[in-house]
Amino acid sequence: MWRRATHVLRASGVLLVWCTGCSSHTWFGVLTRPSAVSRGAHWHRRNAQRALESEFTVALPRHPANAKTNDLLESAERFANQILANDTSAQNQTWRYDVSNEERVYANTYVNLGSAKVVGFDYDYTLVSYKPAILHLIYDLAKEQLVGGLGYPSELVDELPGYDPKFAIRGLAVDLDKAWICMLTLRYRVSIAFYGRERVDPKVVARTYRSETGSGILPPEERKKRLKPLNDLFSTAEACLLADVVQWFRDRDIPFDTRSVVTDVLAAITQAHVSGKLHRTVSENLENYIEPDGQHLLQFLDRLRAAGKKLMLVSNSPFWFVNKGMVHVCGEDWRNRFDVVVVSAGKPSFYTGNRPFREVSTNTGRIKFKPITALSPDEVYCQGSMAELLHLMGWESHKGSADFDGSSIIYIGDSLFADLVDARRLYGWTTGAIIREVSHEITVQKSLKWQRAWKVLQVLTLCARECQKTFIDEKHVDNGEQRTSYSTADTEILDKLEDLAADWRSHLDGLLNPNFGSIFRTSRDNGKTAQPSLFARCMQRHVDFYTSKVENLRLYSTDHRFYPADYSIGVLHEVLHLTDPVSEALSRDPRSTEAN
Ligand SMILES: [Mg+2]
Repeated sequence: MWRRATHVLRASGVLLVWCTGCSSHTWFGVLTRPSAVSRGAHWHRRNAQRALESEFTVALPRHPANAKTNDLLESAERFANQILANDTSAQNQTWRYDVSNEERVYANTYVNLGSAKVVGFDYDYTLVSYKPAILHLIYDLAKEQLVGGLGYPSELVDELPGYDPKFAIRGLAVDLDKAWICMLTLRYRVSIAFYGRERVDPKVVARTYRSETGSGILPPEERKKRLKPLNDLFSTAEACLLADVVQWFRDRDIPFDTRSVVTDVLAAITQAHVSGKLHRTVSENLENYIEPDGQHLLQFLDRLRAAGKKLMLVSNSPFWFVNKGMVHVCGEDWRNRFDVVVVSAGKPSFYTGNRPFREVSTNTGRIKFKPITALSPDEVYCQGSMAELLHLMGWESHKGSADFDGSSIIYIGDSLFADLVDARRLYGWTTGAIIREVSHEITVQKSLKWQRAWKVLQVLTLCARECQKTFIDEKHVDNGEQRTSYSTADTEILDKLEDLAADWRSHLDGLLNPNFGSIFRTSRDNGKTAQPSLFARCMQRHVDFYTSKVENLRLYSTDHRFYPADYSIGVLHEVLHLTDPVSEALSRDPRSTEAN
């Protein structure tokens, strides 16, 4: 009876836990399939706790037809049971299932691709990737607009150095009052600022943003008025042009009004987009500007369709521009793969407004005046709103209906605020971010140079921690009493270690970007400490998964389930020993190793 019951449960993918010390094989429960649990979460938790104790063992299910799956399951089962049996040989094993890190999809939350009924895409920097040439083009067009349209000195045309891909990163902000390019920490403190091409002294930065309460954080109202975020990839050209124009004025001692210069540069960049010059130049030279990875993109889109998912494209770019790029990347019949195509959508207000849709003539690009009462895959629409789209497509989350809810729709885009924040906040959609920099940062982090520096940094940090034990162990005695405060020499040792660690941390950041370091972390004290950047925190808050290119998703099944690593949601005391392998290795007492 027991044998038969376990067989049935194993075959249905259930993880069983039983007590080996009990002759009657008392049934303790199901660990991994909450849907199979009828006695509630409390019961589930209680049994999970029991399973962690050493007298229990874990049995994993077996696949009825796949030997490779069973190899994996057996290996995991053995490994888990070695751990439960306190088998020390398991401590030195690694049990991993790695995908290439550059192409991997990273999940902040549990994501089940199989449950998605609709997959939506942004266009620019999502379905198509641009080469760096487009940033040079934006910089040049905006520079011409500053001189030709806004009356800036004509010398700028020849004397500005041109777009520098190494100057800025994504996720910065412009201080409109100071014309500084700023990087912010997760708590909205300015960590790094550049005035023109020169870094502002950190003490001046600290003084500038000290705030009335001394918190170092600008009040939210002032922050919104004063700091303009630069979040999409086009904005690295914006940051670079602003820095160059400011530097040009400074180098020549020409007085200028900082707020006016910032406003003019931002207006010039906007004009490059709005005037159509950017779109025209790109569409006339697609090979120069678009990365050719159509084959993998098509493979991914076709797999989604074959799995029965509906596809939508919602772009802020005009139809003729989207069409040219998609034909270039995917071929003339690209629209056959989409159930609805919306262009000139005006995200993010597309998510909050209630404009009606209008139809775009795919021949002339003209907007038609007829009312839209249904969305056809044979037509292209512009304007509109998300509420109207969900209504017309029948994708609304009706009360009491289990057919559609937010989790049925996945939306993938590159701009956190234009594409993803409201999609998740207002509609509960699953959001996927395309963050190209992930690939660059991983490539750098895999280099010998970066790894060596990172390990040295870990050693220095650990050394500073451990040294403090020795200060106390030495049992300094002042007037017959053990001293618990540090001596001057003790403090100097720590200061020197911190300075050295700061040098190495700055060196690591410099390998990623010489001015601002990683887009995901920053330091307010020249490298002495590090913390997540505001961009990283926004990504953790608003994005369910992220990857460097949308085509990376083709490497996964359309039913794939992404499980976030527990240490990605843990607090420090839970994760330090898991994420600090050098510290762990170094903290082992060599004498105890010899004794073993
Ligand atoms: Mg985009």
